[in-house]
Amino acid sequence: MLEPRLTIIVPCFNEEEVLPTSAEVLGGILTRLISENQISAASKLLFVDDGSRDHTWDIIQTLEKRAPIYTGLKFSRNFGHQNALMAGMKVAGQVSDAVITIDADLQDDPQVIPKMVAALRDGHDVVLGVRNDRSSDSRFKRWTAESFYDLMRKIGVQLVPDHADFRLLSRRAVAALMEYSETNLFLRGIVPQLGFPTKKLYYRRRPREAGTTKYPLKKMIHFAMDGVTSFSIAPIKAILSIGTLISCGSLLMMVYVFVQRLFGQPVDGWASLMISLWFLGGIQLIGISVVGEYVGKIFAEVKHRPRYIIETDDFTAVPDHLTPL
Ligand code: UDP
Ligand code: MG
Repeated sequence: MLEPRLTIIVPCFNEEEVLPTSAEVLGGILTRLISENQISAASKLLFVDDGSRDHTWDIIQTLEKRAPIYTGLKFSRNFGHQNALMAGMKVAGQVSDAVITIDADLQDDPQVIPKMVAALRDGHDVVLGVRNDRSSDSRFKRWTAESFYDLMRKIGVQLVPDHADFRLLSRRAVAALMEYSETNLFLRGIVPQLGFPTKKLYYRRRPREAGTTKYPLKKMIHFAMDGVTSFSIAPIKAILSIGTLISCGSLLMMVYVFVQRLFGQPVDGWASLMISLWFLGGIQLIGISVVGEYVGKIFAEVKHRPRYIIETDDFTAVPDHLTPL
């Protein structure tokens, strides 16, 4: 097999603190793989600047001037991590034999990259990085992640636990992924649906090299909600079960009131009335909002708006991006 042309895609959102280090580390690995003839000399490190408001783009441009392995793509504003990955894969997928996506903060072990390339050369199309030790994450982060994977499993969504967005995809796997045109993207749910020969590689997740998380709680909740509602209608079904349960309960209540009436005991007043009123009101509102969530999703999909807008694309623009160094 001819050396595969690899593109490593790194989404960056306000990563000025960590980017010089990660560029050094990832660039070093790529250069080594090239010199060992494991990958083609036309392989690249593609930074996708997701509308950063700090000096991230300046750093990327400086890197581009320093060595031809570095290249960048800049969004017109912040479109989110998943869209940054999609954009990177779209532009790189057309001219690369494989792409690897990895976060900018080096939490995912870059030393796994050579193993991913070896797995590609062994004929795997999808190679998933799986964290076997999350002790570096905060307890809260681990707890939320665990509960999330649990919930997803219960509602029947196929996810690979502890696999995030550190993965290698071959050219044909990327092409298949690009067929998924939904606006609300949840890549780690879609990738297991692609099929193809798949391999998992385990590694230890480390603390962030520098900078702070770009996934605050609010974003995490949105991301999890997207994950659930993009793949399952279990919440809507749950409303049906709750509604049925409450209806049965109220039937019993009716019998109880009727019996009380028959035996001449006074029906106790409005306390029970108010409680059931508030209770039912609450359940109804929750029900409506869950359905609303799906209607909102449909609305977003029907509009078919672009997932991202590219302001500058140095990857495609550079005419020599296919020529060896
Ligand atoms: N990121 C991005 N756009 C965003 C948020 C995050 O491109 O809107 C990038 C970020 O720069 C990093 C990766 O996504 O490379 C993962 O983010 P982070 O490490 O902050 O998430 P965590 O590891 O804390 O879940
Ligand atoms: Mg991180």
